[in-house]
Amino acid sequence: MEPIPYSCQQISEDDIAAVVAVLRAPMLTQGPEVPAFEAAFAALHGGGEGVAVANATAALHLGCLAFGVGPGDRVWTSSNSFVASANAARYCGARIDFVDIDVDTRNMSVEKLAEKLAQAAREACLPKLVIPVDFAGLPCDLAEIRALADQYGFAILADSSHAVGASYQGKPLGDFADIRVFSFHAVKIITTGEGGMCLTRDPALAARLRRLRSHGITRDAAQMTSPPPGDWYYEQIELGYNYRMTDLQAALGRSQLSQLGERHAQRIALAARYDELLQKLPLKLPVRRADRVSAHHLYVVEILSNAPEHARARVFAALRADGIGANVHYIPIHLQPDYRALGFGKGDFSVTENYYDHAITIPLFPGLSAGQQDRVIASLQRALC
Ligand SMILES: *Cc1c(COP(=O)(O)O)cnc(C)c1O
Repeated sequence: MEPIPYSCQQISEDDIAAVVAVLRAPMLTQGPEVPAFEAAFAALHGGGEGVAVANATAALHLGCLAFGVGPGDRVWTSSNSFVASANAARYCGARIDFVDIDVDTRNMSVEKLAEKLAQAAREACLPKLVIPVDFAGLPCDLAEIRALADQYGFAILADSSHAVGASYQGKPLGDFADIRVFSFHAVKIITTGEGGMCLTRDPALAARLRRLRSHGITRDAAQMTSPPPGDWYYEQIELGYNYRMTDLQAALGRSQLSQLGERHAQRIALAARYDELLQKLPLKLPVRRADRVSAHHLYVVEILSNAPEHARARVFAALRADGIGANVHYIPIHLQPDYRALGFGKGDFSVTENYYDHAITIPLFPGLSAGQQDRVIASLQRALC
């Protein structure tokens, strides 16, 4: 039988036509497609400005730089994430630390964050920036984190790599973070092959992100140290990068965006069907929250067992043997060897570690058929009984 991947990009004929049209156009990069994609993406998220970049890791790096994060600054994120969420702060020389997750949402725990902030305030070592991660597409407790940010004076760089299409309190995810980052890697909700986006309501932050994305160069006379002698002139006024997205990618992104509503509806329906059909198995299923709609990027089940490591490895192997692309999200970042070398270790974030020991991601993507989904469920059932 055909293997079932855990995720799979959806490329339509419209997507292909959009990319081909750019190949025939004069500009392959730095043309009109990037600003058009940025505008469409921002509009879908309730306004603000989009800044498209090469990938979400670059977006996170630029986000940290835009807030002035540098050596000696503290940045906190969630250890239940892809390594990029934490690496970005380290690129800037910052000291990274983590906040444990909530046992149900698997997102950064607001209670743990509040406790850690109170202690950090006493010890005068508050973070400059917090990077909450909307794990699996479920938005974090944004209002509570915003209130803590206002109280303690840190900025919020939200990692919404999983959350394209999600909403919170009936609104798209534009509000509640100073900068919000999205990923368009091939396994994510919409794709540009590789790609990322920063979204912000703050025009000054957007301008800074744009400049940092392209070498720290400005063509705006008002920002220059001397009057421009002619139209050729530009100035590099800070150290930036080449983190630009191409027009080929932006055209693909804009075309993908036009299919987002339909694809999101498919993800919602598939997740609801898993919820219903997996109910009787010894599994903890993803939680729902009445005040927010998940993007349903991942469907993660936790195996209810007293010997989790053993049970998880066995179930994982059984699914893979049945041709089912099971996966695990995530190995806690703080347990990676490169993070252990910074002094982190087992026991530091016990809820995250315990979750990891039990977790398996099962296939979820638009285009997963009911028959394929039934095969996943039957395989899980066999493995668990
Ligand atoms: C995929 C992902 C990233 C990195 O995205 P890229 O576009 O591959 O750089 C960052 N954070 C999270 C949570 C992700 O899932």
